[in-house]
Amino acid sequence: MQKIYDLIIVGGGPGGIASAVEASIFKMEKILMIEKGDNHSQTIRQYYKDSKRVDKDWKGQTVDMIGNVDFFDGTKESTLEYFETLLDGDGIETCFNTEVDRVNKEGEVFSVVTPQGEFLAKNVIVSIGRMGKPNKPSYKIPRTIKAVVNFNPYECRGNEKILVVGGGDSAVEYACQLTTINSVTLSYRRDSFNKINDINQEMIERYDQEERLRVRYGIDIESIENAEGRVKVNYNSGFSTIYDRVIYALGGTTPVDFLQKSNIDIDEKDRPIFDENYKTSVDGLYMAGDIIYDNGGSIAMAINHAYDALQDMRRE
Ligand SMILES: Cc1cc2nc3c(=O)[nH]c(=O)nc-3n(C[C@H](O)[C@H](O)[C@H](O)COP(=O)(O)OP(=O)(O)OC[C@H]3O[C@@H](n4cnc5c(N)ncnc54)[C@H](O)[C@@H]3O)c2cc1C
Repeated sequence: MQKIYDLIIVGGGPGGIASAVEASIFKMEKILMIEKGDNHSQTIRQYYKDSKRVDKDWKGQTVDMIGNVDFFDGTKESTLEYFETLLDGDGIETCFNTEVDRVNKEGEVFSVVTPQGEFLAKNVIVSIGRMGKPNKPSYKIPRTIKAVVNFNPYECRGNEKILVVGGGDSAVEYACQLTTINSVTLSYRRDSFNKINDINQEMIERYDQEERLRVRYGIDIESIENAEGRVKVNYNSGFSTIYDRVIYALGGTTPVDFLQKSNIDIDEKDRPIFDENYKTSVDGLYMAGDIIYDNGGSIAMAINHAYDALQDMRRE
């Protein structure tokens, strides 16, 4: 007989890890966390710059921790280390390098479908975030410059003229951090940053005033093109500038395909429908973390969702 887990968690980011820990504390015996990357927390590993400051109250959203998993300010490295220790909890099995295609309910049991085979569970939490598909601009990115048009700062080599596009905390943090070894411009289509937290607001003002970078507000990009391997950016002002590299920090997209294939009801804006405990239209199937937001949540919020979902599962 195939093993039936009490809980399978899809996605090994903060929401998934907290779900596993809460399940372990609630004495669920068979817990499996399935992650498509080769280790947990792929969003943190791939999109946070090394030594990045990690704010608990990200984007100025103050969050009181409600469950058994705490969270606090730190750095990329201390946060990853903290999550690593959390996964030592009793009875938590992990399965890396495994991408879940969909979750089907057959009778009372869920079948979690992956290319390597199916796993069975009584309950499932989907915590796959939104960074699997970073948002792209509406205009075309020419194939020939794909290597120098990126969605995170990892390819930067130093001594480059870089354009960062976006108006959120990630864009501001990428831009400021890159100034140490590059010449950076930050371009945002609105007239001011209104979605960023106080620390980043202060930082971008200071960097701007000290002329450590250039901030271009209220300007949009109409297209980009190949300029002998560099990126020619055509602004809606009618002017163009050539950069060595462009980095888009525009957030991520809801994984609609996954939700549809898993028969999870979505609304007219493709958002998953769930109740106050993050239970979806499918009984026993919950969500946690960024996947439930239009425009980004936070680590602390993802951790709290996990607690609410597990409390509800225990009551059922
Ligand atoms: C640049 C940047 C900076 C940020 N800084 C902060 C900060 O300072 N403080 C803060 O609180 N928040 C910050 N955030 C937001 C924070 O990272 C997210 O809110 C948080 O990671 C959400 O956790 P999650 O578990 O919902 O999703 P994620 O962290 O995105 O984790 C989802 C996991 O699921 C895996 N996965 C996806 N699809 C599948 C699949 N089909 N099968 C199996 N596994 C799958 C992914 O590989 C990933 O590991 C930042 C985000 C970015 C992009």
